[in-house]
Amino acid sequence: MNVILLRFGELYLKGHNRNYFESTLIKNIKSMLEGEEYKLESTFGRYVISNYSQDKQNKIVEKLKKVFGLYSLSPAIEVNAEVDTIKNEVAKIECKGKTFKVFVKRADKSFPISSMDFAKDLGELILNNNKNSSVDLYKPQCEIHVDIRMNHKAYIFDNIIKCQGGLPLGCSGKGLLLLSGGIDSPVAGYLMAKRGLELEALHFHSYPYTSEQAKDKVIKLANLLTDYVGDIKLHIISFTRVQEEIHKRCKPEFMITIMRRIMMRVAECICEKYNLGAIVTGESLGQVASQTMQSMTVTGNVIKEKPIFRPCIAMDKEEIIEISRSINTYDTSILPYEDCCTVFLPKNPIIKPTIKQAENEEQYIDVDALVEECLEKEEIINIMRE
Ligand code: ATP
Ligand code: MG
Repeated sequence: MNVILLRFGELYLKGHNRNYFESTLIKNIKSMLEGEEYKLESTFGRYVISNYSQDKQNKIVEKLKKVFGLYSLSPAIEVNAEVDTIKNEVAKIECKGKTFKVFVKRADKSFPISSMDFAKDLGELILNNNKNSSVDLYKPQCEIHVDIRMNHKAYIFDNIIKCQGGLPLGCSGKGLLLLSGGIDSPVAGYLMAKRGLELEALHFHSYPYTSEQAKDKVIKLANLLTDYVGDIKLHIISFTRVQEEIHKRCKPEFMITIMRRIMMRVAECICEKYNLGAIVTGESLGQVASQTMQSMTVTGNVIKEKPIFRPCIAMDKEEIIEISRSINTYDTSILPYEDCCTVFLPKNPIIKPTIKQAENEEQYIDVDALVEECLEKEEIINIMRE
């Protein structure tokens, strides 16, 4: 019978939390495979997917590769753990001239042959059937695994497919992703979700300075993220008035600093309102003027109670782009629609602002009223995983 073996990895390190992590992971696997027909079984702490139609295997594997907390998986053949049955199955293996090694693991000690001896027997069998292949115990091109387990079943596989790793989504609580239309913030969301943080998202737009397409692009990005992150509640807030006010009343070089401080204040209010425990941004140290150490000090300073997670902080743009390609958000991120940050963009934004300077500039606007106004016009879109 064709099955898929699942491996959890880091979960096993979590001691008494293990049950919680494991049940969350199982729930997430089921939600990811919704609509598929299959059976998920656990025997002696090992999870096996079976009873799916063979032509769906690749699709199921691709879906499982997006589940955080899964470390690897192997499509395998399950047979009864009897010497001849296993040999029959192994006899079908084709090595196509490659070097190989057989690995036998025997959790079931009642199996009559030792792992070493059985590996040797099976190796000879494969050699007989594949005259062009040879055994290489050190750097084999093919690894053939035979796992004999306590449920008196043996699993034969030659491929260990790496999955996402990380922690099951939801295990680390829920945060608010500041989602722009750029490359970095979707990557930031993905990286935090990988550490188990569920996400809602917050986007600021400056309609009519920014277009409807700019907003649609963000909806599309959130949509793409749901592949990994599950359903996302997207909060959309008009930032037009805030920007007009700052533009009118503050020094141009402080435009971005003050804007970001107000974004952060609004974000914290949204966190409080919807019970979200952290703010996530796509900032990367030194990438632009608003992402220097000093700028981040000044923008982070308005946040009172939430941590700000910036998972891209130490990454080069190339590294961020690589992840963005791998999660399929890159092509959408580079569509040329403007972001609200580029509206009223000053020529020389201040690179090393101080908290004092920012507070000084904010005297000319009514910060609390502007934040309040932002919150009043909140629009919510529930984006469901397709
Ligand atoms: P990104 O590629 O994510 O847009 P960026 O390199 O363009 O990032 P900035 O525009 O300075 O950098 O934005 C830094 C971070 O601030 C973004 O990663 C995002 O988390 C947040 N942010 C910026 N603009 C918006 C917006 N319009 N709505 C919500 N969050 C935003
Ligand atoms: Mg941006």
